[in-house]
Amino acid sequence: MYRSHNCGELRETHIDENVTLSGWVHKTRDKGFVIWVDIRDRYGITQLVFDEDRSSSELLDRARNLGREFVIQVKGSVIERASKNPNIPTGNIEVLVSELIVLNESKTPPFTIENETDGGEDLRMKYRYLDIRRNPVKNNLIFRSKVAMEVRKFLSDQEFIEVETPYLIKSTPEGARDFVVPSRMNEGQFYALPQSPQTFKQLLMVGGMDKYFQIVKCFRDEDLRADRQPEFTQIDCEMAFVEQEDILDVFEGLTKHLLKEIKGVEIDKFPRITFDEAMAKYGNDKPDIRFGMEFGELNDVAQHKDFNVFNSAELVVGIAIPGGNSFTRKEIDKLTDWVKRPQVGALGMVYCRCNEDGSFKSSVDKFYDQDDLAKWAEATGAKPGDLICVLSGDKNKVRAQLSALRMEMAERLGLRNPDEFAPLWVVDFPLLELDEETGHYHAMHHPFTSPKPGQLELLDTDPGAVRANAYDLVLNGNEIGGGSIRIHDKETQSIMFKHLGFTPEEAKAQFGFLMDAFQYGAPPHGGIAFGLDRLVSILGGQETIRDFIAFPKNNSGRDVMIDAPAPIDDEQLKELNLRIDIKA
Ligand code: ASP
Repeated sequence: MYRSHNCGELRETHIDENVTLSGWVHKTRDKGFVIWVDIRDRYGITQLVFDEDRSSSELLDRARNLGREFVIQVKGSVIERASKNPNIPTGNIEVLVSELIVLNESKTPPFTIENETDGGEDLRMKYRYLDIRRNPVKNNLIFRSKVAMEVRKFLSDQEFIEVETPYLIKSTPEGARDFVVPSRMNEGQFYALPQSPQTFKQLLMVGGMDKYFQIVKCFRDEDLRADRQPEFTQIDCEMAFVEQEDILDVFEGLTKHLLKEIKGVEIDKFPRITFDEAMAKYGNDKPDIRFGMEFGELNDVAQHKDFNVFNSAELVVGIAIPGGNSFTRKEIDKLTDWVKRPQVGALGMVYCRCNEDGSFKSSVDKFYDQDDLAKWAEATGAKPGDLICVLSGDKNKVRAQLSALRMEMAERLGLRNPDEFAPLWVVDFPLLELDEETGHYHAMHHPFTSPKPGQLELLDTDPGAVRANAYDLVLNGNEIGGGSIRIHDKETQSIMFKHLGFTPEEAKAQFGFLMDAFQYGAPPHGGIAFGLDRLVSILGGQETIRDFIAFPKNNSGRDVMIDAPAPIDDEQLKELNLRIDIKA
């Protein structure tokens, strides 16, 4: 038996017991006549003691030669500590060792296995197995497991069935490129790894499995933005015989369950907002509503004066920054520079100070009097002491710019409290989205999303105006889930494909199996998928999803530990009938 207890378990109640522990050497302190060794495992740390009075000199010597991260097994008796350590649960006891076995030696680790390590990101990724021994990473993985367990518990209590769907499939479009896998047995042919199990979960509905879920890996070959992973995990769900309301209800329930069980936070009803409202109020389809700073549109009150910048703009819109009147002129200039950075892209910023005495002082006083500015304050909800920041220009662009400013100010003012949870449903998304570059429409969610009832005809006349039965769940400014009610008849699905630019032949070649299935009694259905990595990191109060993934890829999509991706040898290429010509 390697251990009778784990290294986080022993307390004063165990005093005088003989125990066996196994774990890693965390730290050694050698005072000559007495040696303390901290032994560590997943559960904690226990202090071991060897001393001249009670241990043989041979045992003392062997203890002295232990190196950091050696794997050891010890037998001994639990004794009371002379000087107690109130900071750790085992701090009142120590184990007086009678027998020491080195199970395996260790090279000196390249960084310290401490909460605050001296290892940089790259080094820690290369030796991720050592990084996982550190509390912050270890605890995140345990936390993730707990969230996944609660998801399974909640959904199986609601009679959902977990079904595995294949990884070697044909493209499922979720708006990214596919990772492909060559088939050895089918020369010149490729599988695609699923961007999501979308079509399979719909086929499960046709198959009568009316409540499905799966905690599943998805693969998307995207240009990696910060904190995206080429493979990530979804809580993927689908239900038959449901309307949008039913889905929102069940998955609001799931989210509430998680917030309660994991964070002890109880939230009554999640607010809902339409996509159009979200864009108008926050310039963003995933607004963080933990703080205000809602947009105030100023076209009515700021145009048709003599200020041409505003007059020629499609939208003039501002926000009130709480307490912002305390900013110095220099600070405001810096803020103006910030919105003018290429990443934000504003052409300039107009501001208006709201003085404590109720008067205003703006950067465009030449054009606007106190009555005008009072209307700005009213539209943006500004109070004395605030600073109104106003941007103008093309509607979509200016909303995105002001949204960036809103988030930046919230960050700087400490309004994004990670212990506060503000979920929100965003509903009524557009069905289609115009690709500015190609001038073509593509599905905003995916091609299987159904338009709102009665809006199918609009596709011919005003495709951008069609709204979908599609919804996102937003938590603290992050999209944590998204889904839709699906099309479940062949006719409508064909019309959708046509509008997305597929010829009937292309649609048949790629999605014939789904349209065929729709001819065999497909029930009305819909679903949602949550991004588990993101959800876990938000619940864990941290920003980066990588810290909650056991073996993540770096920003170039590489696993630096196993060194993947990597070339394959010629034999293997030949077997796969692949030839690689890499041009310099
Ligand atoms: N398959 C969708 C996604 O990955 C989710 C859904 O529509 O259920 O975003």
